[in-house]
Amino acid sequence: MPLFEDTRDERDFRLALKKFIAREMTPYREEWDKNRGVPREAWKKMGNQGFLCSWLPEEYGGSGVDFKYSVIVGQELIRGDAMGIGVPNHQDVAVPYIYSFGSEELKKKLLPGCASGDIIACLCVTEPNTGSDAAAIRTKAVRDGDYYILNGQKTFITNGTFADAMVVLCKVDSPGSTGKNISLLVVEGESLKNVKRRQLEKMGRHATDTTEIFFEDCKVPVGNLLGEEGAGFKYTMQKFNQERLEVCIKCQTYAEECFKEALEYAKVREAFGKPIGNFEHISFELAEMATDVEIGSTFLQTCVEEFVRGEEITKKVSMAKAWLAEMANRVAYKAVQIHGGYGYMAEYRICRLYQDVRVLPIFAGTTEIMKVIIARQLGLKPIF
Ligand SMILES: Cc1cc2nc3c(=O)[nH]c(=O)nc-3n(C[C@H](O)[C@H](O)[C@H](O)COP(=O)(O)OP(=O)(O)OC[C@H]3O[C@@H](n4cnc5c(N)ncnc54)[C@H](O)[C@@H]3O)c2cc1C
Repeated sequence: MPLFEDTRDERDFRLALKKFIAREMTPYREEWDKNRGVPREAWKKMGNQGFLCSWLPEEYGGSGVDFKYSVIVGQELIRGDAMGIGVPNHQDVAVPYIYSFGSEELKKKLLPGCASGDIIACLCVTEPNTGSDAAAIRTKAVRDGDYYILNGQKTFITNGTFADAMVVLCKVDSPGSTGKNISLLVVEGESLKNVKRRQLEKMGRHATDTTEIFFEDCKVPVGNLLGEEGAGFKYTMQKFNQERLEVCIKCQTYAEECFKEALEYAKVREAFGKPIGNFEHISFELAEMATDVEIGSTFLQTCVEEFVRGEEITKKVSMAKAWLAEMANRVAYKAVQIHGGYGYMAEYRICRLYQDVRVLPIFAGTTEIMKVIIARQLGLKPIF
């Protein structure tokens, strides 16, 4: 069930990427999971083939294509069991901040490396004391001549262990300011010297590094400020739609893969002398899963098309993120159940898919926060 009909160019891109993933990534899944990380070489190979940040204009190392190419990358990484590489967080979450709000000098310095795989980027918003309430962050940068001195702590940061460029949401204290201006700084190069990192162990997605980050008197050049001082919160809210859309692609693709695994298994596994898919209950479960997946695909398709056309999608993408993340978990739960004991065994693909989907209603804004946004869009005032 394709999300959209590929054009000829999109089809060529998808086929080339599929082959690349089957050759360069799928065979290493177990090794990367065990090592809790993906080697830098894999990023560079992806960059060399033109699969990274292809939406960037050619002058910055991309091909100037639209968001549908990011959809293709998100889909094929999951289909090829290669989601361990944090490419969507790099190219569709962190890099767009540098592209949209960075100075020309910063863009020229960093973006070509982001497209070649020499630079891995991450977005640092969440802190130990606050996730959903991003305005309550405590990480602080104090202006000192041509530098900001950055101190604070971030947590749960995807790509944080290997990142060379960190887009950091922080409060900025400059002469004459209130000290509460939420701003975005890019920590990279020499500024990384005073960054400490601790990789976290997770329930699933073992190859993707998720990291606690400590900034200790990091000297960040003033040229690494994104946009204007005090506008960081506004920029983050603007970019959240794309981040959530990217997670919606994950939700839908995981749901499709779980359904596919369950359907195939139900046709071949026998109990009481017949395929388990012939039992009425299991056939009805599969019918419901197929319906969920089909509805998800239709709604997501609308969101992607409207986003590519540049339309405002805050309400729709919040609805999609809330519904698709829960739907993927519903489908994954049933798919494991249909596999019986095998569904609980790590060597079965469905077991790994199940572990991966649990985080979908949590990151990029929880299901509850999506409902708060939807309620606000309906003219209501959810109470805090
Ligand atoms: C694997 C993983 C990767 C991540 N990657 C990144 C990353 O790259 N960069 C980054 O910045 N962050 C990242 N995060 C953090 C993620 O975005 C946060 O965990 C998420 O936003 C929730 O914040 P929190 O964990 O602090 O939960 P809290 O905000 O403490 O929420 C706890 C619970 O309270 C609920 N809640 C909170 N406020 C309300 C409300 N107003 N109404 C109703 N319910 C409410 C929440 O929905 C949740 O159920 C990642 C998290 C994970 C698990």
